[in-house]
Parts: sequence; structure tokens; C-alpha cells
Amino acid sequence: MDFDALFATQLNQLKEEGNYRIFAELERECGQHPKAQCHGEDGKRQITVWCSNDYLGMGQHPKVVERMQEVIGQCGAGAGGTRNISGTNHHHRLLEDELADLHGKEDALLFTSGYVSNWAALSTLGARLRDCVILSDELNHASMIEGMRHSRAKVVIWKHNDPADLEAKLAALPANCPKIVAFESVYSMDGDIAPIAEICDVAEKYGAMTYLDEVHAVGMYGPRGAGIAERDGVMDRVTLIEGTLGKAFGVVGGYITGSKTLCDFIRSFASGFIFTTALPPAVAAAAQTSIRHLKESSAERDLQKVRVAQLRQMLDRAGIPHIDNPSHIIPVMIKDPVKCRMLSDYLMDEFGIYVQPINYPTVPKGTERLRFTPSPNHSVDDLRHLVSALEVLWKQCAISQAVA
Ligand code: PMP
Repeated sequence: MDFDALFATQLNQLKEEGNYRIFAELERECGQHPKAQCHGEDGKRQITVWCSNDYLGMGQHPKVVERMQEVIGQCGAGAGGTRNISGTNHHHRLLEDELADLHGKEDALLFTSGYVSNWAALSTLGARLRDCVILSDELNHASMIEGMRHSRAKVVIWKHNDPADLEAKLAALPANCPKIVAFESVYSMDGDIAPIAEICDVAEKYGAMTYLDEVHAVGMYGPRGAGIAERDGVMDRVTLIEGTLGKAFGVVGGYITGSKTLCDFIRSFASGFIFTTALPPAVAAAAQTSIRHLKESSAERDLQKVRVAQLRQMLDRAGIPHIDNPSHIIPVMIKDPVKCRMLSDYLMDEFGIYVQPINYPTVPKGTERLRFTPSPNHSVDDLRHLVSALEVLWKQCAISQAVA
């Protein structure tokens, strides 16, 4: 059988739909964020990155980089095993303590990514709690959806950010089955924020545990950068908080936090935790440094908020429509996959501006967009350059028709 031909048919279909992914090949330059070199057919050139999830530039913060170098010198490059078989390093334990403290929980558990933490935790909870029902916000991330599916637990979808619909769905379930309400705080594609307190009110009324993904909020919100639950003063009401070390903290890895028994339960039963090599100790140490820094310093968060507000204002003045949301994510809606890719290509080729097109299946068809994430390291000149480039292209590509 010609397997390549079978693969090619589906790839061609993606290409025809305008949904084939092409990666920009970057060489990040330490200390220069958001500038990077981009490799192309004619060699490499400097560009400005506008779609990084290193939201605060912490991946290049001198303290974080130095700490990683220092611990590589001490411990070497890798962990040497799974957590169970020789791979648990002192730096993992220190980081877990740091994370538990960050979220005001008894304990924390590290994973190799945020994706794995969601997948492993939800699949374990759903599979191990007999007759469990998971109530999932309809816009939850793929990693949560995959975890819930894998658990084979019953999943009930509730309307996005709608506690009344959640309540209706909870009320229809048998009183005595274990229930988990799974949702996110900052939704990364529209940039809207969950009403966590109201969701907790409803969950508590029905005896459900709450599972909150704060991946796009940790490091970014709250006085110590613990996320939206901290900002809203409700950390203690959420049963399990999940986060990543790969976005605002600038490194890589994922985690859950909760009670000692909950973390012990996931540690003891989750295959995605048990059967995989532990994070390099230097990664754990660098992440701890980043978390500590953002616990104590709000300078990065404050400047980033200024840049976000400035970009929104400039886009308004230029008549470029964007989703008005209360977060740091600025989606400019294009609503057409081919135009979205074309705009992204033009921005890169003509202006050295890199923003990846966000197409199906990351977002529903017809809601294709460019998603801008200003960092504290973008200058006002960077903002001006971006908006004037968008103004030019808006006219050239007749985007207003697609957006209207
Ligand atoms: N949860 C959400 C809401 C996400 O958007 C992502 C990644 N984009 C993840 C989890 C996975 O996190 P990580 O990148 O650390 O795997």
C-alpha cells in the first residue's frame, strides 16, 4: 500500500483549505526579545515577533538564563530518568514547593508540559473516580479535551463562561456521583476571562470539584503572578489549579497544584507523569527563578499592560477591528483562512513583522485571525511600525470586507 499517497491526499486537502501549517524558522537572540532572526530561502533576516507566548520575555531574562547555565554546570543536561526511577532531582522538589506556595496549595506536581499535565490529570481523575462526570466549558483546550476523552468518563459540555448553564447541567445529574467542573481562566484565542467566583459558587452548591487551567494567566495576573484566581481572591476555592512554565515563565514544563492527597493521587496513577523522563534539573531551577522573580516584581506585568493598552488604542485610531477583551491577547479578526495567511506573509515579507495566522482547527472555520501578544519588550516604535503596516495591508487586501 502506498502510505505516502494516503498521507499526501489529506495534506493536499489542508493546503486547498488554506489550513496547512508553515512554521517560521526562528533563531531567538538572547536579550533581544522580541527581535529574532528568521531563516528563509535568501538566508536570515531580523524580524519582530508579535505572537510569542513568552509573554513577559522571561525566557531571556538574565536571572533566568544565568540560573539555567549555572545548574547545567552543576547537574548536567538531563534528569537521568523518570521521576520514579532515578530522575527526581532536588530542583524538581524545590520547584514543586515554589508552585504550591505560589497558588496557596499544599502541594504541586510537575509534568513535561502544560499539555501533558492537563491530559494526565484529567484522564486519571475521570478514569479513577467511579461514575465521575466531567463538566467541561465548550471552549476548553485540546489537552483537556483529550484527557477527558481518554478517561472515558461521561463528559457534559456547558456553554462558554456561562455559570447559569453550568448550574442547569449540574442540577440534571444524580446527586451522589463525583463531578468535576473543568475550565480555563484566560481563553487564549478570544482573550476573554472566566467568572471564576461564580463558577465556584455553582460548583460548591453541587459538591463538584473545580479544575482550572491558568496556563495563559500564570505570571501575568494577581499581585504575585499566580493568575486570575489570585487576582480575584478565590485561589482557595479552586480544587486544582493547572499551569505551564512555558509561557509567561518563559521556560518549559507544566504542573498541577492542589491538596497533598490530590497530588499524591495523580503522582501515583497518572501514566503521563510516571512513564516519562523528568524535566532537566536546569529547566526546573530556571523556572523557579522566573516564578520567584515574578512573585516579587510586577514591573514586567505593569509595562506589558501599558503596551497592550497602547496597541489597542492605536488599532482603534487606525480603524482596525480587534476583539475587545479584558486580557493581554489582541485578536484581529480576518475570518478567512487564505486572507489570514496572505496577510501574515505580507507582514513578514514587506515589514519584517511575524504573526502566525490562526486558522482551523485551532479556531472554528470563519473565525480565522491574527493574534497579537505585546510584551514589555516591544517598544512604542514597534507598536507604531505594526499599526502602520496593518493600515497599508488593510487597504491593499480589502480586509474590511472580510471583517464586516
Ligand atoms: N492549556 C491551554 C489553555 C493552552 O493554550 C496550552 C498551550 N497553548 C496548554 C494548556 C499546553 O501548555 P504547554 O504549551 O505548556 O504544553
